[in-house]
Amino acid sequence: EVERAMTAPSFEGVRLQLRNRARSIEQEVRRLAVTKTALIGFIDVMLLAGLALVWTNVRRELKLSRLKSDFVANVSHELKTPLALIRLFAETLELGRVSTEQKKTQYHRIINKESRRLTQLINNILDFSRIEAGRKEYRLVRSDLAAVVRDVVDAYRFPIEQQGFALDLEVAEDLPEMALDPEAISQALINLLNNAIKYSTEEKSIRVSVRPEGDRVLVSVADRGIGIPKAEHKRIFEKFYRVESSLVHTTKGSGLGLALVQHIAEAHGGRVELTSVPGEGSTFTLSLPVPGEGGGGEPRPAPRGTMGNRENLGQP
Ligand code: ADP
Repeated sequence: EVERAMTAPSFEGVRLQLRNRARSIEQEVRRLAVTKTALIGFIDVMLLAGLALVWTNVRRELKLSRLKSDFVANVSHELKTPLALIRLFAETLELGRVSTEQKKTQYHRIINKESRRLTQLINNILDFSRIEAGRKEYRLVRSDLAAVVRDVVDAYRFPIEQQGFALDLEVAEDLPEMALDPEAISQALINLLNNAIKYSTEEKSIRVSVRPEGDRVLVSVADRGIGIPKAEHKRIFEKFYRVESSLVHTTKGSGLGLALVQHIAEAHGGRVELTSVPGEGSTFTLSLPVPGEGGGGEPRPAPRGTMGNRENLGQP
């Protein structure tokens, strides 16, 4: 706003005023200050958001690389131990150093158990790499879920009971036919059974059940082991993730088992549910949908993306 008294003789007494019609100069300056401050504020916020994004990405990458190196160490350890045991007992048997039949049977059992463990570990790793490469396919065929579960439990009953566990199987009558990849479901179940064994201490009891619930069939594996704190319930399904407790630390594992179980459940249009109380035990439940008419028989591509919590590990 400019105001000036005219000095020329012919305009004497006239005052000249110049002003913006809408706003005074102070108002205009204030308006500009507000918009510029808002703009600078916005740029600052964007910069901070960018920094936060870079920070979380770097942390995620660091975490992933730490998990990967832990995984390599764990897997090497898992491969080495059973191989060493198999060699030791096979050599002892070969050299004829075993005096009693009972000892021989015991050594054969150890060889059998350790080679099963190796097979399961290698199956997990092969499946994991197929999933990561997007090459894993599930072939869902109409099958009897109860029979699949029974086969697995029967095959593993002996070695499980040998380790001092009570193993119960409860299968409901008249289960509907399901669209399943029997091999994948068996593998999921074996992984859950293995965990139930690995993470049980004093109370050695495993209960497997198959029962319908609404339009789903639930397969549960319950143990009375160390349990899992609530805060870890989500994360244990991430690939490579292992809870950092002392027992878990001394127990061998690759951190892939549950990620695979979850992937398999999702490939069947289902999910994995967990209820667990630390110190009291855990129940993992595969909840699988019963197909409508005409389902099954088609190969089904694996769910897109990688295993486990994709967001946390930043995989595509
Ligand atoms: P791992 O090879 O370490 O067993 P998993 O993916 O199968 O890998 O399991 C991830 C983690 O979840 C385990 O390291 C363990 O901490 C926890 N966990 C899984 N199953 C159980 C269970 N039945 N009881 C207690 N903790 C479990």
